[in-house]
Amino acid sequence: MSKVLVTGGAGYIGSHTCVELLNAGHDVVVLDNLSNSSKEALNRVQTLTAKSVDFVEGDILDEVVLDQIFQNHQIDAVIHFAGLKAVGESQKIPLKYFENNISGSISLVQAMERANVFNLVFSSSATVYDEANISPLNEDMPTGMPSNNYGYTKLIVEQLLEKLAQADERWSIALLRYFNPVGAHKSGLMGEDPQGIPNNLMPYVTQVAVGRREKLSIFGNDYDTVDGTGVRDYIHVVDLANAHLCALNNRLNAQGCRAWNIGTGNGCSVLEIKNTFERVNGIEIPFEFAPRREGDVATSFANNARAVQELGWTAKFGLEDMLADSWNWQKQNPNGYRD
Ligand code: NAD
Ligand code: UDP
Repeated sequence: MSKVLVTGGAGYIGSHTCVELLNAGHDVVVLDNLSNSSKEALNRVQTLTAKSVDFVEGDILDEVVLDQIFQNHQIDAVIHFAGLKAVGESQKIPLKYFENNISGSISLVQAMERANVFNLVFSSSATVYDEANISPLNEDMPTGMPSNNYGYTKLIVEQLLEKLAQADERWSIALLRYFNPVGAHKSGLMGEDPQGIPNNLMPYVTQVAVGRREKLSIFGNDYDTVDGTGVRDYIHVVDLANAHLCALNNRLNAQGCRAWNIGTGNGCSVLEIKNTFERVNGIEIPFEFAPRREGDVATSFANNARAVQELGWTAKFGLEDMLADSWNWQKQNPNGYRD
């Protein structure tokens, strides 16, 4: 079993990954500055697993904190979730995104190098693919210039890590290109808890369902898709969390840098999400059609064959599980972790 440093481990995907790591017998150290999360998420991780997490409140830009962690713990591998992810905000304050996501990642790998730790799993995104690619997207398709600064930071960090692994064969790096993470832990104790008005579809839907928002705006109903609304590849956060364990396993015996898509391979429209949510949970979601959102593509879904073949990973949860679990979390925690 390994000791894993999880940066951003108090966040949505990080906290679910901590549960899976602990359940699999790994030891976990979390570094998080709580800029977009709550320590309560880690309390729930400990409740669910009956195991303890070593939590360090600090920043990946702080090299003193990083060096202390690597001195105090025999870390085998790092899973790097820490970063800012609000697309709209990244257009308004790009430097904050460049500093946090790009400089932060450089600061982390420098500290890893000082500590002789060379196994890394990085949270990337399907947004790195060139928009001209036709779904299903596979890892051999070209990347392109993302339409926003958030996506740009993911592309840059991917490229930096590729060059690092090319230059120094000690590195073993997994780039996981997430599609659209949704859902929550089955217990309803953990889930997505965005601050302010949600940017993403799923938390918006659950906040309408719980009465925090009046109605859903569906951005565009004139796309060339099954019903005119945008099509995405939604993936249960627990399946996504488990992909990190598979990637860790793969990287502990490998060298170089490699990318894997983590999606189910199924495209699903916004209207299908709304209608399935209503059917599975028995709640009506008031909605209106609104103009297209700038930067959105019509369709994006994964070819996940590489992850299935090389990582031995499969998605176990379907759309109904994702929508039932998202609602189970939201209804038990109407105000997220701030109850
Ligand atoms: P999140 O905001 O819930 O989690 C990120 C965590 O990182 C938060 O707990 C935050 O407090 C912490 N953090 C941010 N900057 C930090 C810093 N400088 N030092 C230490 N901690 C810091 O987001 P998430 O949805 O769990 O996403 C995790 C990762 O996955 C991010 O890198 C995100 O860009 C990437 N990703 C997310 C999605 C998605 O739709 N959720 C899709 C693709 C990729
Ligand atoms: N969407 C929507 N209303 C919302 C949020 C999102 O219609 O309030 C649509 C969006 O246009 C896209 C899909 O839902 O077609 C998924 O959007 P999200 O922001 O969750 O993920 P993205 O794929 O854009 O990263």
